[in-house]
Amino acid sequence: MYRIGQGYDLHRLEAGRPLILGGITIPHEKGCVAHSDGDALAHAITDALLGALCLGDIGALFPDTDPNYAGANSLDLLREAHALVTARGYAIVNLDTTIVAQRPKLRPYVDSIRQALAATLSLSVEQISVKAKTKEHVGPEGREEAISTQAIVLLLRESGGTQD
Ligand code: MG
Repeated sequence: MYRIGQGYDLHRLEAGRPLILGGITIPHEKGCVAHSDGDALAHAITDALLGALCLGDIGALFPDTDPNYAGANSLDLLREAHALVTARGYAIVNLDTTIVAQRPKLRPYVDSIRQALAATLSLSVEQISVKAKTKEHVGPEGREEAISTQAIVLLLRESGGTQD
């Protein structure tokens, strides 16, 4: 009846790239290095959804060797993973996430990110938590070399679904 999934992602930061988290472009001098748009939060949530139903991972579904996914909008990939979940009769109960970044300050963007994720997943913002932490200036996130993300999702089976 219930399934739980977790996801994790980390992207290296490089100067001059856009910083996109949860579909929101955040003003910053550095952004995530990636084949897609580098939205590490969307990637962790995608992996949490896939993991909950043992459907593999984002790299298997959307290979970074596939030119179709060059510069891909990661919310589109998240929407596709969510469609696999709903096709199996499951709905998201709630989603809890953490972004680990020394800079920039993310709190001003948290509500916009929650709204963008809610729209992507057809949820209410009350079902989506986005937390931001620094790393006390240590480790790759603390030295501003990378941003990492974590997500955990609870699914509830609501119907038989259209696929196994
Ligand atoms: Mg990623």
